[in-house]
Amino acid sequence: MRPSTLAEPVVRLIEALSRLPGIGPKTASRLAFYLLRASKEEALDLAEAVQDLKERIVICSRCFNIAEGVLCPICEDETRDSSVICVVEEPLDLVAIERTREYRGLYHVLHGSISPVEGIGPEDLKIDPLLERLRQEPTQEVILATNPNLEGEVTADYISHRIAPLDLKVTRLARGLPVGGDLEYADEVTLSRAIQGRREM
Ligand code: ZN
Repeated sequence: MRPSTLAEPVVRLIEALSRLPGIGPKTASRLAFYLLRASKEEALDLAEAVQDLKERIVICSRCFNIAEGVLCPICEDETRDSSVICVVEEPLDLVAIERTREYRGLYHVLHGSISPVEGIGPEDLKIDPLLERLRQEPTQEVILATNPNLEGEVTADYISHRIAPLDLKVTRLARGLPVGGDLEYADEVTLSRAIQGRREM
């Protein structure tokens, strides 16, 4: 239902909010009316946080990690092992893996996972740029470190299928991570073991 009888700024905000992942028209309306009633300070604080994010943070042109320049610190670090690429869903997953100090290769951040329920398909993720990268960079192994939940498994299977013709070693993190959980919340010991015990797909 299009709330066409509402004032234009309200309609615009509802439409903008409903484009966010996981937010349907109902939630979007609820959030818009919350902001309408909130203090000017609170509402503008949100607007400024979004603006700051877009103006100050960029995405690494190679691996799509968060960066402040063209490349992120990991891609710029020449001591990293460029023959291995670890594919993660979000920048926070990369941070979790870095905390283990177990991994010295490069990354590729997908910015999400395939989720038909939320309307997120492969084309919404950085999967094509990954394939492009694998064709150009001399890679020996791809570690699929997506989350141990349904969306993560579907995403790993899809990518594994897409990169099969490239004839690379493709591994998946070992079982033992809490199923249904998020990589970013896994403890360091469990995550370290999952990297060590990764299995070939
Ligand atoms: Zn990078």
